[in-house]
Amino acid sequence: MAAFGSVFMPEMAISWFDGEQWSGTNVVPSDSLQLHPGAHVLHYSSTCFEGLKAFRHEDGSIKIFRMDRNIARLAQSSQLLSLPEVDKDLLADMIKTIVARFAADVPARPGSMYIRPTHIGTEAAVGKAAAPSLSSCMYVLLSPVGDYFAGGDRALRLLVDDEGMRCPPHMGMVKSGGNYAGALMPTLKAKAEYKADQVLFCPNGDVQETGAANFLLIDGDEIITKALDSSFLHGVTRDSILTLARDLGMKVSERELSVDELLERAAKPGTEAALSGTAAVLAPVGTLIHHGKDIAIGSGGVGSTTVKLRKALNDLQWGVSEDKFGWLTSI
Ligand SMILES: *Cc1c(COP(=O)(O)O)cnc(C)c1O
Repeated sequence: MAAFGSVFMPEMAISWFDGEQWSGTNVVPSDSLQLHPGAHVLHYSSTCFEGLKAFRHEDGSIKIFRMDRNIARLAQSSQLLSLPEVDKDLLADMIKTIVARFAADVPARPGSMYIRPTHIGTEAAVGKAAAPSLSSCMYVLLSPVGDYFAGGDRALRLLVDDEGMRCPPHMGMVKSGGNYAGALMPTLKAKAEYKADQVLFCPNGDVQETGAANFLLIDGDEIITKALDSSFLHGVTRDSILTLARDLGMKVSERELSVDELLERAAKPGTEAALSGTAAVLAPVGTLIHHGKDIAIGSGGVGSTTVKLRKALNDLQWGVSEDKFGWLTSI
């Protein structure tokens, strides 16, 4: 099967900001983006993006999961990057327009339609290293995706890095390209040296997140995860899982988690850990690698609470359970 996110629908929604106003929603071929090679984004990384999904329900209807949250986050990322202000109503229209156009192509469970809104600075001005792009472009790509766990539900290995940072502290809340490029080198090194799947960045011993997912520790009936601050990405999946966990009667502790406490709790039987993000929802973590040593989390396998929480969110997304928090948008 094709790798996640490598297949695109032939058209995308696009809108341009000319320095004064946004053009309306246009639908154009997905490979028809024309940019000046001097465009701000290509030199100074004025770019941010989002990832969300549309789901096909049993009755054939198509629902977009927590669209308002992702639009708000793109607007926030844009503001923090000094990009032109996002028109939220316009972006909602762009997303709904393009999903409706390809509604027939939204895969059935366990597949879905991954939606990738992107905002880039387009002004041709290589002299603007320290000034914002006055013009910009937003586009929304669609990529049909299959079962994330088609290859089996494998517990991941994380290298615990208690020094390195994923990105500069003031960029943590920005879903921006440069942060990912910056996390590549340590991640590839961890793969080569420790067969790690991801790096868990814990600067000064503070457990933050991996390159593209939030980290949750599950100890019996309690979920422990870092409280929101500006140093890391505020995942929509994180928020959704915590909301569902509270609803299921679990205790949710949003607070600081140190590497010392993490390692201490990891060794206890019954402890689980997981990574949360739109693509996988919850991916189980089985092993931590710290100072060259493997430390199994609980049994070291796929945790039952992780699977239960993932199913609870999946069932809501696919309309099997009630949308009790109003998270689904009809197109
Ligand atoms: C996208 C992302 C997440 C997960 O966010 P979701 O909204 O749950 O998909 C977490 N951390 C980083 C760094 C991310 O880029």
